[in-house]
Formats: sequence, structure tokens, C-alpha cells
Amino acid sequence: MSKPDLLVIGPLYGPTMAQLDAAYTTHRYWEAADKPSLLGQIAGTCEAVATSGGHGLKAEVIKALPKLKIVGSFGVGYDSVDVAACKAAGIHVTNTPDVLTDCVADTTWALILSTVRKTVSYDKFVRDGKWLKGNAPLTDKVWGEKMGIIGLGRIGKAIAKRGEGFGMQVAYHGRSKQAGVTFPYYATPAELARNVKILVVVTPGGKETDKLVSAEVIEALGPKGYLINISRGSTIDEEALVKALATGKLGGAGLDVFVEEPKVPEELFKLDNVVLQPHVGSGTHHTRTAMGQMVVDNLAAYFVGKPLPSEVPETL
Ligand code: NAP
Repeated sequence: MSKPDLLVIGPLYGPTMAQLDAAYTTHRYWEAADKPSLLGQIAGTCEAVATSGGHGLKAEVIKALPKLKIVGSFGVGYDSVDVAACKAAGIHVTNTPDVLTDCVADTTWALILSTVRKTVSYDKFVRDGKWLKGNAPLTDKVWGEKMGIIGLGRIGKAIAKRGEGFGMQVAYHGRSKQAGVTFPYYATPAELARNVKILVVVTPGGKETDKLVSAEVIEALGPKGYLINISRGSTIDEEALVKALATGKLGGAGLDVFVEEPKVPEELFKLDNVVLQPHVGSGTHHTRTAMGQMVVDNLAAYFVGKPLPSEVPETL
């Protein structure tokens, strides 16, 4: 029996690609020199697309595939997938929530500790031989401090749980107060920022959260505050952030995500009050394997007519 067609938008985790290659006739969109011609060749047969939060799925590709019915997206955030276009065309979109929650929370904590306690600059201090000339400068502390979380969802709650282990006082902001959550709630990001020392952003990306952390929020956090972004680059006014870090109007920042990643504003490279990471929140073999399995399971469920394990709420 011939295998179903699967359009893969961009390179995925190697072992996941191997699973997809085994089950489908895969078409590598990113490798195609003539993309419209590839779409034309599979337009009459292709019901499935595999992509990721990074690669996304554009309306033009959706439009070119009239038989498309299922999208398996690798990652929990799907702001780069045109969900409205999928919904309008009756296409089911799936993502990979939950399995990545704890590793992303761990990564966030690596950023919190390395930003506030200056682990990265200390490492450089030792390597550069500066220790031989004198002791390193002291830092702020983490335990017992006030931590604000913008987006107290699955990952936000796992970050908060770790924060409680550090004796921190956790507060949060979201679109509304959550039932059963006892942490103090602040109705705006600025109000939350004014009341905490470490502010963590862990919302979805997309239009709704664009520059949710504005220049005003950064100013409210202030010269003694730290901003940690594990969400999407778009959720922060990056220009205002760079300026505040360069002028000492913000104490420090730990950033995993950027507006035009993998391009990072070069001004940040000169600053030692910022820790930079290449979007590796979920980047462990364990978690990437589990995420890949969810993509495989969602696509397989569609082809055997079973309920989809993790469809996004918008297309349910
Ligand atoms: P989730 O459970 O859906 O949580 C998202 C939270 O964001 C919810 O608490 C929601 O609260 C809040 N939120 C949504 N829209 C908002 C808005 N406009 N203003 C304020 N708060 C808003 O999702 P999750 O699994 O925790 O993942 C969260 C995000 O983390 C993903 O969407 C992705 O962007 C990011 N992420 C990054 C990495 C990485 O590698 N850096 C890895 C995984 C995930 P309300 O509904 O109450 O507003």
C-alpha cells in the first residue's frame, strides 16, 4: 500500500523526521527549489502537514493544498501557524503541550539564576584570569524574592512551583484571575512589574500578546528588576528592552527568545547584564523525543480516524 503524503515545512528533530519518513511519503518544503511546483504536485493528494512553532504554516501553503485536513505542529506555541485560515478551511491543528512543561520550567530557572547571580559573567571572569587580580563583584539574590509571572498556565505554574521551593513570593498576571490560585493577581503587566523583582513572561506569542511587556512595563520593573523571557520575542518591546539594559534602567534580563531569531540585536552582545540563549526552552533529548511522538501520534490518529490526542482549542 502506498504511504500517505506529508508535507514537512522545515527540518524537525532527527528521530522524529525518521519516524515520519517511515510512515509517510514526506515532501521537504524547505529543500524544494521550486516551492509552488512542489505544492502543485501534491495538491490533489496531500492531507497532512508537519511543522513546528518555529517554521509555522502560512495561508498561501494552506490555500495551495485543498485536500489538507491535519497539521501536526512540533511545540506548544502555534502562533506562527495561521490557525484562522486552517479553521476556515476545516483543517485540524494539533500541538505538543504538557510533555515539555517541566523542561521549559527548568530552562527558565537556569535563566533566572544565571541572570541574577551572574553565572555567565563569573565564568568569563575566571577564564579571563581576572580572579587572580581580585575578587568578583557581588550580586543580588534569588531566594525569598518576589517573582511575577505573566501567563500562569502549564509552564507558568511549573515555574511558580520551583519558585516556592526557593521560598519566593509569587504573583501573576493573565487575562483574568484564575479560580483556585492563591497567588496575588495583578490586572495589568505594569502593576505586576511594579510589585516584583523578577518578572517572567510565559504567554503565547501572536497579535494578542504583541509587546505586552511595553516600555512602561520595563520602566515599572526598574533598575533593580530582572526580566526573563521564555515566551516569544514578540511579547516584549525589544527595542525598549535593549535601551533599558544599555542605560541601566533595567537591572538585567535573561532571554531565550527574540523578535527576529536567530538574529539577536547586536547591542546585547556587549552587555553583561543580560544572558542570551538560542530558543532552547524545551531543548532536551527527553522532551524533544516526547514532543516528536505527539506529532507522530496526532497524524497517525487522523489517518486511522481516531480522536486527535492534542488538538488546539481554536479548531476543535
Ligand atoms: P498555556 O498553558 O496555554 O498558558 C498560557 C498562559 O498565558 C495562560 O495562563 C494564559 O492565561 C496566559 N495568556 C494568554 N494570553 C494572554 C494575554 N493576552 N495576556 C496575558 N496572559 C495571557 O501554555 P503553556 O503550555 O504554559 O505555554 C506557554 C507559552 O510558552 C507557549 O505558548 C510558548 O509561547 C512558550 N513556550 C516557549 C518555549 C521555549 O522554548 N522558549 C517552549 C515552550 C513554550 P489567561 O488565559 O488567564 O490569560
